[in-house]
Amino acid sequence: MKHKFSILLAALLAVGCQTKTSDDMKDTPDNPFFTEWNTPYNIPDFSRIKPEHYMPAFEEGMRRQKAEVDAIVNNSEAPTFENTILAFEYSGELLKEVSSVFFNLSECENSPEMEAIEVKVTPMLAAHGDDIALNAKLFERIKAVYDQYKQGSLDLKAEQARLLEETYKGFVRGGANVPAEKQARFRELNEQIASLTMRFANNVLKATNAYSKTLSDGTTVTLDMPTWEPFMQSCPDRKLREEVWHAFTDRCKEGKFDNTKIIDTLVNLRLERANILGFPTHADWVLDDCLAKTPANVYRCLLSIWKPALKVAKQERDLYQKMLEKDEPGAKLQPWDWRYYSEKLRAEKYALDDAVVRPYFCLDSVREGAFMVANRLYGLTFKERSDLPTYDKEARCFEVKDGDSTIGILYMDFHPRASKRSGAWMTEFRGQHRNLKGENVIPIIQVVCNFTKPTADKPSLLNFDESETLFHEFGHALHGLLSKCTYPSLAGTNVPRDFVELPSQVMENWCRHPQVMKMYAKHYQTGEAIPDELIRKIEAAATYGQGFITTELLAASLLDMDYYSIKAKQHIDPLQFEEQAMKKIGLIPEIISRYRSPYFQHIFTTGYDAGYYSYTWTAILDADAFEAFAESGDLFNPGLAKKFRHLLESGNTVEPMDLYRAFRGKDPSPKALLKRKGML
Ligand SMILES: [Zn+2]
Repeated sequence: MKHKFSILLAALLAVGCQTKTSDDMKDTPDNPFFTEWNTPYNIPDFSRIKPEHYMPAFEEGMRRQKAEVDAIVNNSEAPTFENTILAFEYSGELLKEVSSVFFNLSECENSPEMEAIEVKVTPMLAAHGDDIALNAKLFERIKAVYDQYKQGSLDLKAEQARLLEETYKGFVRGGANVPAEKQARFRELNEQIASLTMRFANNVLKATNAYSKTLSDGTTVTLDMPTWEPFMQSCPDRKLREEVWHAFTDRCKEGKFDNTKIIDTLVNLRLERANILGFPTHADWVLDDCLAKTPANVYRCLLSIWKPALKVAKQERDLYQKMLEKDEPGAKLQPWDWRYYSEKLRAEKYALDDAVVRPYFCLDSVREGAFMVANRLYGLTFKERSDLPTYDKEARCFEVKDGDSTIGILYMDFHPRASKRSGAWMTEFRGQHRNLKGENVIPIIQVVCNFTKPTADKPSLLNFDESETLFHEFGHALHGLLSKCTYPSLAGTNVPRDFVELPSQVMENWCRHPQVMKMYAKHYQTGEAIPDELIRKIEAAATYGQGFITTELLAASLLDMDYYSIKAKQHIDPLQFEEQAMKKIGLIPEIISRYRSPYFQHIFTTGYDAGYYSYTWTAILDADAFEAFAESGDLFNPGLAKKFRHLLESGNTVEPMDLYRAFRGKDPSPKALLKRKGML
C-alpha cells in the first residue's frame, strides 16, 4: 500500500473538534494546546508548538475524555441518542487534536524527543482506549439506546441511525457484549493473541537479520526485500540463486525462530475468539465489518481473477523456460529462476529509460495535472497560500475552493528530509465534520511523499510510478476534502478497509490514461506533450509480468482466507496446510505464495488477517469505477462525476457498497481489471 493513515486512535476515540475550552488550565498558560489557535481556518499554530507541550496535552486530553465518559455513565437521566451517543461521539476533543498533530508530525518532523514521547504515550493511549472499550456501564447505556432504536421507539435521521449502529457495532466487536462468564477468557485470548503476534514478528525480524552472504565481488546479500529482490533478478549464478532463495523462503519454518507452532496456536485462538463473539469463523468476524461481508464473497472475488491470472502466468513460465534452456540445456525452470529471467526479458523489451521518461513528469506538471483532473471532474480550484501556518518550510499549503467557498486546506510535502519517514501517505490534521452547534468545520489534509529534490539547474522530475503515487495520495486527499458529513467518526476516509483505497486507486487511472497524460505530461524544457510512442512503452511496461504478480498475490490471499475459514479447532501444520491450499487452486510449482506462512506477517501480525484479499478487491472496484467513465466516451463525464462525488462526500454515513451501486448502477465486475492487466 502506498499510504498510511493515522489510525492509532480512530477505532476507539471517535472524537470531535468543537471549539476548544480552556477550563482549569490556568497553570500552563504557555501550552498552545490549551489556548485558541487564533489562526485562519483554525489551523494548528505549528510555530508555537514545542515538544514539551505534547505530554501535558496528552495527559490533560485523556483526563478530559475520561471525565466526559464518566459524565455520560453517571447521568441520572435515561439514556438517549443525545446524552449518550452524541455525547460520546464529541468527547475527547483535545485528545484528538493533540494526537493528530503529534502523530502526523512524528512521521515527517521526527526527532529523538518526538520518539521518546511516542514510546511513553503509546501504551498510555492503548490503556485509555481499553478503559473506554471495556467500560460496561458505558456500553449498557449505548445498548439501551440501540435497543430503543431496534424496537422502533426512536425517531432518528439516517445519519444519526448510522452513527448509533456503528457505535454499537464498534463496542460489540471489541467484546463489550460478551457474556459475563466468558469475559475473563475473552480478555485472556486478546492478551495471548497480542503476545503471539509480537513473538511472530520478532522471529521474522531476527531470522531476516540472521542471514547475510558476502559475494565474491565483495557485495553483501541480505534477506531484506530491497536487497534480496534485485539480487534474485540479477544473479547469473544459478546455484547461488537457489541458495539465497531458500534462505529467504525457509525463514521461520524450523529451528531457533520457528513460527509454525505460533501459527497453529494463533489461528485456533482467533477462531475461539470469533466463536465467543458469535461468529462461525474468524473470517466471518473480520468481514462482517467490511464491504465483502462474507468469506463466500471474498472467495468469489479472488477466484474470478485466479484462472485468467494463472493462464498468463503459465505463458510467462513457458517463455522463461525457453530462455533457461538456452543457458542450460535440459534444465527445468525453478522458483529461483523466475525473477532472473523475468528481469532479463524486461530489460530487453520493456525497460523504460528513466532519462527519457522523467523530463515529461516534472513534479509541478504532475501536481497541476492532478489538480486539473479534480477541476474537470468536481469543479475544484487550488490556490497556493504561503501566508498560512506551516510545520516545515518545504510543505506547500493550498486553499481548496468549490466555487466561492473554501472547502478545505491541503498541505503537500513532497521531498525527503532526515526527519521524515520513507514512503508516501495522506493524513488529516482535522477531519471534516459539523460541530455541536451545527457549524461546518473544514478539513485540514496532509499529503506526504519522498520525491527527488530539485537541483540548482533541474526541477524535481518524477518517474512514472512516482507520478501515480502523487495521483494516488491526492485521491485520498479528495476523499477527505469533499467530505460532507455531520459526525467526525463517519466522515471522509473513516470507511472500511476494503473501501478506503478506492478513491485513491481510481485516480491513478486518470494519471495513466493516454488522453490525460497528453494534457499534463509536458517536457519541462520544451513544453512538448509526451510522444505517443513513449505512452505506448509506459503502457506495455505496466502490463509486463502481471501473470506472476497477480498469481502470487492471489495465492497468498487465498491462503489467508483458508486459515481463517476453519470452523473447528484443529492441529495445524502450516507447511502441510499451505501445500494443501496451493494444491487445491492448482498453483504451478514455479511460483509460490507471495509470502510463505512462517513469515506471512500481514495475516499473523499486522492486521491483514482475513484481509489480504482487499488489495485485489479494491483493484476490481477502481478499475470498474473508471471503466464507467471510459465506456461513456468522456473521461470527465459530468453526470458520472456528480455521482462519484456523492460517494466521496458520504464517508461512512451510508453502507459503502450501496454508494458504489448508486454510482455504477450495478455490482462491480472484474472485467475492467482483467483488461487492465492484459488478461482478457
Ligand atoms: Zn492508499
